[in-house]
Amino acid sequence: MNPLAIRDDFPIFQEKINGHPLVYLDNAATSQKPRQVLDVLRRYYESENSNVHRGVHTLGTRATEAYEGAREKIARFINAPSPYQIVFTRGTTESINMVAHGYARARLQAGDEIVLPPSEHHSNLIPWQQAARATGATLRYLPLQEDGTIRLEDVEAAVTDRTKIVAIAHVSNVLGTVNPVREIAEIAHRHGAVIVVDGAQSVPHMPTDVQELDCDFLAFSGHKMLGPTGIGVLYGKPSLLAEMEPTYFGGEMIDVVELHESTWKEAPWKFEGGTPIIAGAIGLGAAVDYLSRIGMEEIAKHDAHLADLAVRRLEEIDGVTVYGPGPGKPRAGLVTFNLDGVHPHDVATVLDAAGIAVRAGHHCAQPLMRILNVGATARASFYLYNTEDDVDAFVAALKQAKEFFG
Ligand code: PLP
Repeated sequence: MNPLAIRDDFPIFQEKINGHPLVYLDNAATSQKPRQVLDVLRRYYESENSNVHRGVHTLGTRATEAYEGAREKIARFINAPSPYQIVFTRGTTESINMVAHGYARARLQAGDEIVLPPSEHHSNLIPWQQAARATGATLRYLPLQEDGTIRLEDVEAAVTDRTKIVAIAHVSNVLGTVNPVREIAEIAHRHGAVIVVDGAQSVPHMPTDVQELDCDFLAFSGHKMLGPTGIGVLYGKPSLLAEMEPTYFGGEMIDVVELHESTWKEAPWKFEGGTPIIAGAIGLGAAVDYLSRIGMEEIAKHDAHLADLAVRRLEEIDGVTVYGPGPGKPRAGLVTFNLDGVHPHDVATVLDAAGIAVRAGHHCAQPLMRILNVGATARASFYLYNTEDDVDAFVAALKQAKEFFG
């Protein structure tokens, strides 16, 4: 894997940012897009554009084949047994909301529990708060270790026969921890609970095998894995998707419509009401082709190596606090940190002046910020086009920021 050659596929790296070459370290928020994805989008609009599942005309057939072909590619990418287990959504947030609304609410009642870590992204927290509020179920939070990891014995203790849902990120977008989803799924299933996995930070960065993980639902976003914005995926086990109610009702998702009652198509189409996100899905198909060609094992190793290097280099700087696992410990490709006495927004602003894009804020994880006892943090997150030179540039600019703020 050659990040410099990969970079050539990404037109954005031709941009100068404040007079500097772009060092893009905000991949956990959204990734950049390769020409191979941009070309497919253009080709779709130039030579295939039509609505899907409707027209018998040639373009309608082309568009439908491309859209359904993308579903097959994505099923293969996560080793789903069937493409019919892939629901196209707008992203992780929508996928999780669909499960919370269409599956969980009808099955939860007072006395039931939803188990989750307090470190979840708001997208895997608020839908459960809302479901609990609507049904009388309660949220039960898993304790976090000092480095943000979760102990299986704590999961064993928290998950009981009252647990109906376990909701957990495979990779934390703040801590970079990789949660033992396979083992947690086993515990959840032993108690008859359903496990909903937030794959927003894992699917783009590591091989994902839903059969091996044995997760019941998996949500992820296309824009974080080289695809366009506005497209995401909900994977579900067939029996659960069959039981789950649609969230959106209208065109495309119906079977027979009568004046007072109607029936729906089978999954996944019953969840895709209205004209679907056709170009987005096709673009995501091109993105997974690109990622598969590079190899997800390679990408996982590369991203984790850069993050570990960054952790080591950051820990050498006086006054820098790194959150999450220490050097050499399992960590996905991101590092969250603070510089003593300097607001992370100021850190990010100084880095931006050097062309370096990092994230600053609460990262949609306010409860976790409270646990870490901070209002905000800065985060550098890596992907396949980043290099060790990017880490060097980032660390050098951070040292300058430290001097600048005294
Ligand atoms: N979950 C995690 C762990 C994330 O990092 C994100 C995005 O930042 C989301 C959910 C929400 O993703 P989206 O905004 O694409 O719906």
